Formats: sequence, C-alpha cells, structure tokens
Amino acid sequence: MIYNVITLFPEIIENYCTQSITKRGIENKIIEVKTHNPREFTKDKHKRVDDTPYGGGDGMVLQCQPIFDCYRNIEKKENFEFIMLTPQGEKFNQNLAKELSKKEQIILLCGHYEGFDERIRLGLKPREISIGDFVLTGGELPALILIDSISRNLENYLGKDNSAHTDSFSEGLDGLLEYPHYTKPREFEGMKVPDVLLNGNHKEIEEYRKQESLKRTKTRRPDLLN
Ligand code: SAM
Repeated sequence: MIYNVITLFPEIIENYCTQSITKRGIENKIIEVKTHNPREFTKDKHKRVDDTPYGGGDGMVLQCQPIFDCYRNIEKKENFEFIMLTPQGEKFNQNLAKELSKKEQIILLCGHYEGFDERIRLGLKPREISIGDFVLTGGELPALILIDSISRNLENYLGKDNSAHTDSFSEGLDGLLEYPHYTKPREFEGMKVPDVLLNGNHKEIEEYRKQESLKRTKTRRPDLLN
C-alpha cells in the first residue's frame, strides 16, 4: 500500500511514521508513506500557496494551482483512491478503513487555514472524508488517522501477536465493541480477574467474552446493535 500525503507540513506526517507499528510497517515494506508539499509546486515568486477569500471574510484559502500541479505530479497506480480530508465529508469508520485497505494506493489531501478553493473539489473530484463532527487546524492528523486505521487491516501489518480481527467494530465481533481484557496480577487493589478467565475452559471463555461484548455494546453504543 502506498500513501501519498499532500501537505504543507510534511514533518508532522514523517515524525509520526517513524514510530511504533507504522515504522515497522514501513521497514517491512508493507506500507510506504510519501509526502508531497504543494509549496514546491507554486508558480508564485514568493512561494505563496494561499490567498484571501473572494467576497471577504476571515482566514486564508488554499489556491488551486499548487495543489492541482502537486496532485498531477504523483504517479498513480491502477487501483488508487484520492481523498480530500474535510469536516464536510462522509464520516470515517472501521468499515471504510477496511474498504480502503483493498486499494493499492491512497492519495490524501490535507487542508489548512480556512480550507480549499472550491475548484479543487470540483476539478480534481476527490472522495471527501471527515474524521468527525469537529474542526481541526489541518488535515495532517486526519490523514494519519486514516493511514493508521487502514494499515491495521493489511495482511502481516500487525504481526502475529496482534490481530485486528477481534477489535471493536470488526467482523470477528460482528461489529460490536470488544470485551474487557485482564493481565497479571490476578488481583490488584482488591479487584480480581473474573474466575472464568482462569479456568482454561476455552468454550466458557468464548461465551463469557461474547456476552461481555454484547453487554458493553448495549450500554455504551446501542446504535451498533442495529
Ligand atoms: N473552514 C472549513 C470548514 O468549516 O469546513 C474548515 C477548515 S479546517 C480549519 C482546515 C483543514 O483541516 C481542512 O481543510 C481539513 O483538511 C482539515 N480538517 C479539519 N477538521 C477535519 C475533520 N473533522 N475531518 C477531516 N479533516 C479535517
């Protein structure tokens, strides 16, 4: 999977990707993350990539030319998806992460300031994705959220000790929330590990986890039961 991130702040993406499982995914050549800075493509002699909005108002708007040229300069695979990060897009979730993990290449366009000149959306026709009903300063955190959650669905990305199959929202749990986990010690500050997890009876453990998962989902996210 190749991720191409169009961003004015490539260091945010690069710094995150040199840590933890993302770093290992890159080292193991399961994913590749490339950044592309529209500032390197601007034809403005002062290297500007934004300007004031027509009609007046606060903030600066990202201009078409540097973004069009930056996007067009990226080599495309046959099976790629081009995504604009915007609070106005379709809401991102686990199903979408899984769907996107089937692609060969994902190009992520990060906004900043007041957002994009509308003609970027009209001309380049990206799929628009939001990570939730709140507004962030830039698209870099949303892009990293997509990279992280999509990659978790790729074969061998998490290694053998980790599986996305039984995470909350996954098919392995029928889309429900995950059951609670416990580790050593058996007792901590008076709180004990449930007996069922200690008796080695795998059928009972499986049934207990199924019930806990259902109970949690009913109380915290009843909407998922539908
Ligand atoms: N003025 C825009 C609006 O009201 O829709 C918001 C611009 S926001 C300050 C700057 C950039 O951050 C956006 O262009 C987008 O790339 C990114 N962004 C902010 N919130 C986001 C969210 N919830 N999901 C995805 N991207 C987001």
